[in-house]
Amino acid sequence: MGKKIRKKLTKDEIERLCFECDMPCEVVTTKMRGIKVEAYRCPKCKEITFSEKQAHQAAVKLEEKRMEEQYKKSPIRIGHSLGLTFPKEIVKVFGLSSKSKLNIKPKLGKKIIEIKVG
Ligand SMILES: [Zn+2]
Repeated sequence: MGKKIRKKLTKDEIERLCFECDMPCEVVTTKMRGIKVEAYRCPKCKEITFSEKQAHQAAVKLEEKRMEEQYKKSPIRIGHSLGLTFPKEIVKVFGLSSKSKLNIKPKLGKKIIEIKVG
């Protein structure tokens, strides 16, 4: 092996060195289960790694996506009205029961029906 000649690395570059190649990784956007997340990629071996912060960001994004899918619901017909069921997690987090008071605020322009608890 010849002598390694390398330009001085910044602190930031040292923090994202590839363990295998000893080269600073590039910041890239990669897809995890269809979701775009930020990661590091070694320019030499193309290995993708995540910093602690990136791994956390990816976990949050995946959780958001999972919830989004779980919370996509269709109303249920109840007499002449329509009802909406709440996922178990929402019931738990907000401590909902059949005695809860929910204030419904339609925001027509934004196509949002806001539900305020209490
Ligand atoms: Zn590498």
